[in-house]
Amino acid sequence: MTLNIVDVRPNGEFLALCEKCGDSKGHLSVNPVKKWCYCFKCGFHRPMTREEVRTIANSDISISPRPYCTDRDAIKDSAFPFMRPIWPLPDAIMGRKVAEYAEGRGFDIREAPIYYSPDKPWYMFFVMRGDDGEMVYCQGRAIKEGMTPKYWCPPVRTNDFIWTLQGGPAYNQIVVTEGIIDAYSIQAKNRLILCVLGSHIKSGQMFAIANKVREFEGELIVMLDSDMPEEAWEMGVQIRHRTYAPVVRVVDWGETEGDPDSIAPELRERLIAESILVPDP
Ligand SMILES: [Zn+2]
Repeated sequence: MTLNIVDVRPNGEFLALCEKCGDSKGHLSVNPVKKWCYCFKCGFHRPMTREEVRTIANSDISISPRPYCTDRDAIKDSAFPFMRPIWPLPDAIMGRKVAEYAEGRGFDIREAPIYYSPDKPWYMFFVMRGDDGEMVYCQGRAIKEGMTPKYWCPPVRTNDFIWTLQGGPAYNQIVVTEGIIDAYSIQAKNRLILCVLGSHIKSGQMFAIANKVREFEGELIVMLDSDMPEEAWEMGVQIRHRTYAPVVRVVDWGETEGDPDSIAPELRERLIAESILVPDP
């Protein structure tokens, strides 16, 4: 069974063509949280298959661009009603695993935004909050070896989503990065971090970045993982051409390998300082 998704609603539900009634408008409401489909036209209903849930979680359905993710209500109200801070740790085995993971990444679990949900045992969740402190997105990672999926994220589209992490009230640097843990590792007082959840900027995200640089006079730096040199350069060129960012630079990893969160802070800062200038369009 393949779902024919035609739209997504602000509450996080998807609309698909009903397979039963020859629907051409998208009357089938698809709720990946409840894993349930329901047709408003003919009343047909059925559970979603596991494959459908997975496909929809990775879907890239485009609707009109918005500056920020506004699916926060869907996430907060339906996806994770029981989300709790992981510190103090809920259980000894999970606690040890989380502590090991955090230690390997160089951050303190008492300060990092790590959560757990009894709904999804054995996942740790990194929570992203908006300027108002509300959760806007979260990203789950399996703690036990061999667990699938390794990452578990709420089924919302990420194509118009950027997440910002601001180090201080005044910043003169914007750093664009891939993931939430990268964002935390790059955090500094003079920086605004933009996390695009991937190595490609989608049009809605570009729109959001353009908004962020509108009155910005510092430098914007792209720092992706070391295995994405071409994507990083392409991203830098795109940003330089499509926003008014005055100075755009791209981190060149050279012979170094890793992610922003897996290298020593001094090296990370040096890579940022020595990033390469993207020429004017
Ligand atoms: Zn129908």
